[in-house]
Amino acid sequence: MVRGTADPAVVDHGIAMRLRMTMNLLESVSCIKFIPIIGTPDRNGSWLHISNPRLQRDCMHEPLNKGNGELVLVLGLDCLSEQQILHTLLHGVGFKDEVSHPQRDQYIRILWSNIQPAYQHLFKIQPRAKMSKNMIEYDPMSVMHFHDRAFSTNGQATIAPLIAGLVITPSDSLSQLDKMKLKLRFGHECNKRNVDDLLDICKKVLYEDMNKGKIHIPSEGQALSEDDSNVSGNNTNSIENNDQNSKEEEENNPDDSLTIKNNDTLSLHVFENTTEKLGGEYKRVKNW
Ligand SMILES: [Zn+2]
Repeated sequence: MVRGTADPAVVDHGIAMRLRMTMNLLESVSCIKFIPIIGTPDRNGSWLHISNPRLQRDCMHEPLNKGNGELVLVLGLDCLSEQQILHTLLHGVGFKDEVSHPQRDQYIRILWSNIQPAYQHLFKIQPRAKMSKNMIEYDPMSVMHFHDRAFSTNGQATIAPLIAGLVITPSDSLSQLDKMKLKLRFGHECNKRNVDDLLDICKKVLYEDMNKGKIHIPSEGQALSEDDSNVSGNNTNSIENNDQNSKEEEENNPDDSLTIKNNDTLSLHVFENTTEKLGGEYKRVKNW
């Protein structure tokens, strides 16, 4: 899940609609779920904060990690097309600019002298230590790719193909490899959601049976009856232990595709006064 907040001074109704459409697109091709947080963000979790405190105009390519769970995603004033919002939002969930792909030098040449100095760092290859285990091949059609004259200082190309026939054509939407990358990186979210749903059902059935007196949980020191030992205490512990194991597993296996901590609570949220009171979280989400 991805929770977060949007600054109402930046995200008006029209932009909120585009954001929601972009989120719908990402949710439709992956296991990501964007959930608006109403009220104060969870200090133990992580969240996206869509804002633009300095009223910058350009698209921003480096989300600012505030170190307290908050990841600021700047939506530039001239960066509000659907393609640009999609690009920015993907940065928020850990995607890098495709031009920094470790294998890009096999396909393209960077024309450094044509790039504005202030933006040259965006063209550096990602350190191999930061490569995601799920990284797939270089994709010149990725929505995360710059166009071939991006950040030009003289109007000339900043990226040139090395392979005959290779055309650098960033997609307006997700490329096929973008969709594959999303599935690889966030497929575990579907598995986790299925396990959580199953655990909720088990707990609900267990508590209903306890309330009906079908199951007796012995107090501490009280011996288990033969029937109880089969279903009650052990099962309850099993559920709790599974929860704990799940948490420990996540801590031991952080998703390196995300730039903010604790992917379980990574989220995108809206200030309450930017949402219409339609009732129910899902309807609030639809307001994006
Ligand atoms: Zn970017």
